[in-house]
Amino acid sequence: MQRDVVILGGGPGGATLAMHLLAEGVKPLIVEKETFPRYHIGESMTGEAVNVLRSLGLGPIIEANGHPTRKGALVLSSKGKNSWWVPVMLRDANHELVEGEAWQVRRSVFDQTLLDEAVRRGAELVKARAVEVVRGPDPDEVRGVVIEHPSGEREVVHSRMLCDVTGQATWLAHQGVTSPKEPGRYDKQIAVFSQIRNPVRGEGFDGVDRPTHPDNTIIFYAELYHWAWFIPLDDEIVSVGVVVPSSYFASKGETKEAFLRRELKELHPELARRVVDTELAEEARAIPNYSYFIERFAGKGWLCVGDTHRFIDPIFSFGLYLTMKEGQHAAPLIRRYLAGELGDGREAFATHTRRMETAIDHYQDLIDGFWGEAQGFAYLVNNPRTRNQVIDMFAGRIYDVTERDIPAIKEMRALARKAREGGRLYGEDRRRSGFVAPTA
Ligand SMILES: Cc1cc2nc3c(=O)[nH]c(=O)nc-3n(C[C@H](O)[C@H](O)[C@H](O)COP(=O)(O)OP(=O)(O)OC[C@H]3O[C@@H](n4cnc5c(N)ncnc54)[C@H](O)[C@@H]3O)c2cc1C
Repeated sequence: MQRDVVILGGGPGGATLAMHLLAEGVKPLIVEKETFPRYHIGESMTGEAVNVLRSLGLGPIIEANGHPTRKGALVLSSKGKNSWWVPVMLRDANHELVEGEAWQVRRSVFDQTLLDEAVRRGAELVKARAVEVVRGPDPDEVRGVVIEHPSGEREVVHSRMLCDVTGQATWLAHQGVTSPKEPGRYDKQIAVFSQIRNPVRGEGFDGVDRPTHPDNTIIFYAELYHWAWFIPLDDEIVSVGVVVPSSYFASKGETKEAFLRRELKELHPELARRVVDTELAEEARAIPNYSYFIERFAGKGWLCVGDTHRFIDPIFSFGLYLTMKEGQHAAPLIRRYLAGELGDGREAFATHTRRMETAIDHYQDLIDGFWGEAQGFAYLVNNPRTRNQVIDMFAGRIYDVTERDIPAIKEMRALARKAREGGRLYGEDRRRSGFVAPTA
């Protein structure tokens, strides 16, 4: 088989990349190993993630699924003094901030909707597992992929551009095509999660007081690196997850389910008040070591998108947005590369990857600043001088901006530095300093 563009992974990143390519007149082949619908974690979106989806004309079909919309994120600290609220806000045509909302999705439904739509628009889908990369004569070059069909039969698919959108599977990294996969700062954490029925939701919403809306995402901060999420998925079901140092999880010696149910009662008084019945509506699952980065994630005939090259920490729900936004940025480049306008593409994709990295660096600063100095971070959120900058960052307006546009980035980095010097932050970020010293 020979195809211009092969996309590995039919999750939201792969499906939206396919739709962006189709809008550019490029018909891709998607290789997905699972039969959809399938379970996946990562349910809360940013405001700009919604804009990416709407830009593809997907608003009405996603709305038809009836996903709840959050008005913002409420972060509750255990002692109350560092609690804060960041509303979902968009920028209008005059660059004024206006109230917005963002979907929270049951991923089995959402992912299937996107993949079905990509196929309806003309993408080709094959249910198969990518098993081996096909290299070119130049060691950096990729010329295709060997896929394995459910029957066990193998087939070579030659491609001019192979896009890895396999998420945390980081397929091209495991094939040794990218530079090595390195542990990220939050590599020593583990997330344990499931769903619960009918907890106490936001109360007293009067149509005005957005922080009390029953569909909001709530983050419960217990102590450094110990927190929980609460993400409503429909009128009854709420996704809950607890994230802690792996050493803490191991020290408890509990099953995932027992751990989660106990933590729901003990982690935070406000969480315990909300979760009356800790019976789980889904199997308890866990993801350890989710934090990593890959420095070189594009080359001749290949490109990594989204989680396949970097994942920092799930706390503020940036993952879906980043993977879908990167596809939006990459699609026109891929079209031009195929048209022979970009030479062998190496320089163009190197520029693209630097641009993507710079944007994610802003999130690294934000997350490091939060973990480094929760109180100082709360000050940046609430201070009128920096509040709108924080709102922009939470929404996703992090591309092609510098510290001049968002001076709060510098302050976030200063918070992280102070915490690092005080020994309160997980090890150095090797991506920046060439040194890693994990502390937990
Ligand atoms: C604990 C945790 C909580 C999170 N919470 C949030 C959140 O609230 N909000 C948010 O935005 N993000 C969240 N994320 C991140 C989010 O899950 C990801 O960023 C998002 O799913 C990435 O989408 P994707 O399409 O790039 O990859 P995925 O959704 O992972 O899809 C990849 C697809 O590739 C397929 N695949 C893998 N290997 C192969 C292969 N060899 N051959 C063929 N197909 C293959 C898989 O079956 C899968 O369908 C969270 C992450 C973690 C770890």
